[in-house]
Amino acid sequence: MEQRSILAAYAHPDDEAFGSGGTLAKYAQSGAQVTLVCATRGEVGEISDPALATPENLGQVREQEMLNAAQALGVSDVRFLDYRDSGMAGTDDNHNPAAFVNVPAEEVVERLVRIIREVRPQVVVTFDPNGGYGHPDHIAIHQHTVAAFHLAGDPERYPEAGPVWQPARLFYNAIPRSTFLAMRDRLVAAGEDTSMFDRIEENGMGWPDDQIQAQLDVSGTVGAKWQSLMAHRTQFGENNMFRRFPEDEVQRMMSQEHFVLAWPQPTEGFKLSDLFEGVA
Ligand SMILES: [Zn+2]
Repeated sequence: MEQRSILAAYAHPDDEAFGSGGTLAKYAQSGAQVTLVCATRGEVGEISDPALATPENLGQVREQEMLNAAQALGVSDVRFLDYRDSGMAGTDDNHNPAAFVNVPAEEVVERLVRIIREVRPQVVVTFDPNGGYGHPDHIAIHQHTVAAFHLAGDPERYPEAGPVWQPARLFYNAIPRSTFLAMRDRLVAAGEDTSMFDRIEENGMGWPDDQIQAQLDVSGTVGAKWQSLMAHRTQFGENNMFRRFPEDEVQRMMSQEHFVLAWPQPTEGFKLSDLFEGVA
């Protein structure tokens, strides 16, 4: 039997932290091969405290934060693709020739195919088609990972990139719509501003609950997950929203991770509590 192997592909250091950190930690603990691909070093992200980094060295600082975060999760195989953070949609960084969004798809897909054929994952995880919230790099890594997922098993494509390997399942990270609704309810009860959560349905916040196939209990990893989240120091300062919720609530929010099964197409009512169930 092949060793269990899972590959997660994201755009920036910290993309893994909330949505799949617990899942990666859980599988790493159980002895699976866990590979985390990060397309950029998040060079144009936030700097929570000017003592931590400057715009010039932020990429370097975030690379180390990523390695610290991965270590907290027990993940030792982290691969940077060395592209530049493209910034939020509509910013000047979008036009930098080194920006991830400007790299030809063919090049990125080949590199992902090469990694997939090397680590032979049964399970691949990435962002949903909208990249969670529309960040251009998130959308790009989604598209390239979906392409690589299918082409890694095609002997006609990239014959130089190693012996073919077809992963069995492709998942997207998802936050259930019910989670946002519950957060809004809690803010209402606490008499706080809920404008961010108004019109959840119209704004398409969260993924419809009935279209989520996998819910994983990662409560055993919450300590590691919190530690990994906080390792991204430049991104999670004193004012981050997790510090505004009571600890038991954060604990509860962090105890479950959700995924949409993108491939193979799920049958109605198909549910999983383990991404490898039935495939390895
Ligand atoms: Zn990101």
